[in-house]
Amino acid sequence: MFATTNYPCNIPLESKILFLFHSFTITINTLFAFHCKTKLRTTNLQSTIYTHPNRALFFRKKLSFFNLPKQIMSGIVVVFDFDKTIVDVDSDNWVVDELGFTDLFNQLLPTMPWNTLMDTMMKELHSHGKSIKDIEEVLHKIPLHPRVIPAIKAAHALGCDLRIVSDANTYFIETILKHLGIREYFSEMNTNPGYVNEEGRLRILPYHDFNKASHGCTLCPPNMCKGLVIKRIQDSISEEDKRLIYLGDGSGDYCPSLRLKEKDFMMPRKNFPVWDLICKDPSVVKAEIHGWSDGEELEQVLLQLISKVSMEHNSPFITSDCKLQTLSLSVLEALPKALPLRP
Ligand SMILES: [Mg+2]
Ligand SMILES: [Zn+2]
Repeated sequence: MFATTNYPCNIPLESKILFLFHSFTITINTLFAFHCKTKLRTTNLQSTIYTHPNRALFFRKKLSFFNLPKQIMSGIVVVFDFDKTIVDVDSDNWVVDELGFTDLFNQLLPTMPWNTLMDTMMKELHSHGKSIKDIEEVLHKIPLHPRVIPAIKAAHALGCDLRIVSDANTYFIETILKHLGIREYFSEMNTNPGYVNEEGRLRILPYHDFNKASHGCTLCPPNMCKGLVIKRIQDSISEEDKRLIYLGDGSGDYCPSLRLKEKDFMMPRKNFPVWDLICKDPSVVKAEIHGWSDGEELEQVLLQLISKVSMEHNSPFITSDCKLQTLSLSVLEALPKALPLRP
């Protein structure tokens, strides 16, 4: 599906180029701002990049001979939703639809919470002779945008700590990530437990056991409050300068977006439920908001934000005019030799 180089820094070529482009654009803007003796301000690079495709292409050609240094930066925790963010569909719906149980699902949907319904649907699949192998075969065919995996690999190779917060389940997500060969890129998965029982039936349980106690959040479904997960992640991040980037599409991603801080970034999928909720009153989200429409834009925006944070981490270099060259050189020196081109 995609190719990678043999370099120790295992970033897909296209992603390297994008990252370099963003880094250099930010560097140029930073240097320009400094040269003008103006206060460094946030620059809207998105319009530059997306409205000038020829310029991007020019940079891609120019920079294709370089490689990125390993672990350019760290200090970013990237939190991904799974359904319609990493994969391009809802994995629950995908399995039910592909195995021909859509009508039963729609019939039962008004009668119970989604999480309970999925466990019930797995019982129905089992009783109708659908095996775990049938479910796995369907999961292996789940659609995803071809730029999502390179984006994940690039973010990981650049030192980001990648985590998943999803209302799907561990069984679906593990099966898909392992099949795609990207399981090891994630340090943590927060989702509903899923396991195969002794009868060979898939069980799907709630992340919060709402039969025992409510999680207390009125924005979220009873089985999972993603905002509480984000709070736990924030509490576990000891360093002051760690920053979160959160990517999601659904209404369940709105609660965590309200937990993000000013230094963080929210990446809602444009024209999806979380985008619509944020648009109603963007001022309640403290984090910078950067929308994306598909996997290609997800990659562009994510690498842009990582490079922006990277440059801000490197800002001590920019202390005087004579150091401007130092910064440029330090970036260039980090770029090695020839890069094997993708077939
Ligand atoms: Mg989602
Ligand atoms: Zn919540």
